[in-house]
Amino acid sequence: MPPSAPPADLLADAPGELATTATAHAVWVRVALDVPLPGPFDYRAAAPLAAGLRVIVPFGRRRMVGVVVDNPAEPAVDPAQVKAIERVLDDLPPFGADWLRLAAFAADYYQRPLGEVMLPALPPPLRKVSAYEGQRSASGPVARMDQRAAPKPPKKKRTSKAAQASAAQSATPVDKPQTETPQTDTPQTETPQTDTPEIETPANPLALAGAPVAAVPPVLNADQQAAVDAIAAVQGFKPVLLHGVTGSGKTEVYLHAAERVLAAGRQVLLMVPEINLTPQLEAVLRARLDTVAGPGALAVLHSGLADGERLQAWARAQRGQARVLLGTRMSVFAALPELGLIIVDEEHDASYKQQDGLRYSARDLAIWRAHDLDIPVLLGSATPSLESWLHAERGRYLRLTLASRAKSSSLPAVRLVDTRRLVMKQGLSPQLTEAIGKRLERGEQSLVFLNRRGYAPVLHCASCAWVSHCPRCSAYTVLHRGPGAGGHLLACHHCGFQARVPRACPECGDQDLQPMGRGTQRVEEHLAELFPGARILRIDADSTRRKGSAQALFASVHAGEVDILVGTQMVAKGHDFSRLGLVGVINADSMLFAHDFRAPERLFAQLMQVAGRAGRHTEGGEVLIQTGYPEQAVYQALLRHDYAGFARHALRERESTGLPPYAYQALLTAEARELAQALAFLQEARALPESTGAFGTLVSTITRYDPVPLRVVRVANVERAQLLVESGHRPALQAFLSTWSALLPQLASASRVRWQLEVDPLEI
Ligand code: ADP
Ligand code: ZN
Ligand code: ZN
Repeated sequence: MPPSAPPADLLADAPGELATTATAHAVWVRVALDVPLPGPFDYRAAAPLAAGLRVIVPFGRRRMVGVVVDNPAEPAVDPAQVKAIERVLDDLPPFGADWLRLAAFAADYYQRPLGEVMLPALPPPLRKVSAYEGQRSASGPVARMDQRAAPKPPKKKRTSKAAQASAAQSATPVDKPQTETPQTDTPQTETPQTDTPEIETPANPLALAGAPVAAVPPVLNADQQAAVDAIAAVQGFKPVLLHGVTGSGKTEVYLHAAERVLAAGRQVLLMVPEINLTPQLEAVLRARLDTVAGPGALAVLHSGLADGERLQAWARAQRGQARVLLGTRMSVFAALPELGLIIVDEEHDASYKQQDGLRYSARDLAIWRAHDLDIPVLLGSATPSLESWLHAERGRYLRLTLASRAKSSSLPAVRLVDTRRLVMKQGLSPQLTEAIGKRLERGEQSLVFLNRRGYAPVLHCASCAWVSHCPRCSAYTVLHRGPGAGGHLLACHHCGFQARVPRACPECGDQDLQPMGRGTQRVEEHLAELFPGARILRIDADSTRRKGSAQALFASVHAGEVDILVGTQMVAKGHDFSRLGLVGVINADSMLFAHDFRAPERLFAQLMQVAGRAGRHTEGGEVLIQTGYPEQAVYQALLRHDYAGFARHALRERESTGLPPYAYQALLTAEARELAQALAFLQEARALPESTGAFGTLVSTITRYDPVPLRVVRVANVERAQLLVESGHRPALQAFLSTWSALLPQLASASRVRWQLEVDPLEI
């Protein structure tokens, strides 16, 4: 990417010393800034500045925080135009060369300006000029954080409950099963949203997780031991795919691998797909790794944190104080000067893909980062992505297998309930209702899974066929049971539009409006009618809107305060429920016929994951899947818990149709007031190789498909279309994209659209 200076017309208005002439001693620094222009930008400094330092610079009328990336011998523009750096921010060590390489790779690979990769990766206080301005702030957010953390009045004794609990547990004789220890703490309902970070262990992760944690590690079984040994034997870069069935104890393998790396004085990055999984893992890590890495060596990083908490975790990682960083996808960008191992749990999970701004895959960047540092990377899953599985098949990844469960002796029995010949009540088959009843009698928990929140997906008029729809989107509005007494409302899940439920049909005036289909709220209501004495809990995006509430709800499940859990995919992942015997899946088919070629892969993974919540600690776990298509390959493979069989089948199909992982894709999406404008831009973009000579022979290996409207074409009054490009050769696609994306802004039709380019899209 060619360096440049801030546009001259912007500069003319800026305060600063334009008058200063370049002297023979001028030092030039190249700075990445978060602006949608090709950069980086050149400035003048009093002395050379290390790459990786943050600086405050003038840019047009504004002042911005940027990152020094280079000290060029000459500026890229007329030296008289070059302005001076205002301030060097040295409150944290400069980012290391490896961090700068990671950012440069991501910018290059995902076709974005470097500054748009670097700056958004930082916690907000580190990239806001305002955090360094004014009397209170002049010292900067890091110094303020340190000040607050430093003086600790001894009277306020804050030994964390986690530490107490783990101390208490280590004192107990080993032969008592630790996991049976009753949880007496009342679960904390919310993490305080505070800007005042504390250096010490945050309050009570054990209570947050709700699950008891054994401080005494279990003895590894043979599969686990073999995996741990194989990982220990890995030298330098090697991706390891840990394929372990649900409940096989992958966490234990991660812990052992991490312990070795920590003992060797290196840092560990452990990534998980969901914020909701961090408390349980956090508790385990604290209980186990404190002895190796020292208390307080764990930092946690995810989007649910307040700015100050996030800053603190980041700063501790960058200073090397945090030895283990546990985080969601954003943590792949954390500065970790002594990184020695990266672990990606549930590597197949779509949450590793950022869906706006820089559309990166944290899993893929983790692998690149490990390669760059020449360290091992461990990818764990019960249902690996087909990309990773193919690499393992070809021997590029080392595959390790945990074939059986760690605690119970078997995987849950899967049964397909053929709904074609059944009378269903509110979406529940008699078999499922009966099975829930049996679990209730035995004091076990059941989970009813359906991937649809709200009360009903649509409201419908029986006389004229009117259906509720969003005025701003080409989509239905979902009926929700609102807060307050019996209030319903209609909500659009695409744009957030909300409306009251009409008393009568807006088309024909009929008053008989009926909810059609069902979401989690309606199922919850029906279950309450069927099982009046049962304690029913719903966990979905609606019931967990308040910060920290998801953690509290999960804690009550772990604590055994729930008999029937109703939930969306939020409940399907990762959780190690100890009392859950039955899983019922009630609308799996809705995911079966999605348009995306990855739909079967996603469905299979999701059903394996949710099924994997059943019977983890006890025998007799059972999974009932209601379907009208029991003969489908996805369901048949599921019956046998046969991931490998499913993958073989799916890969054969992908290969014969030339789809990923046998091809590489990028998606150009355009948004405009009118679909025609979006399509016109994409047509022009598609024709670029013919209308310019810039591509040479590159295009011969690239397939450019026709532009098509998105399935939900209009969202918030914006119409959207996309154009897929594909190649069997990744470097060819990369070369094409870099030429292409440089030319796109110059297209005549570009001014009427907003566009973005996504490399390796997951959803098409
Ligand atoms: P998953 O592979 O699904 O991530 P977990 O790591 O959550 O599985 O482990 C499932 C359960 O098995 C946990 O409760 C864990 O403490 C337990 N466990 C793991 N390894 C062993 C072992 N070797 N012996 C006994 N229990 C184990
Ligand atoms: Zn009507
Ligand atoms: Zn809408």
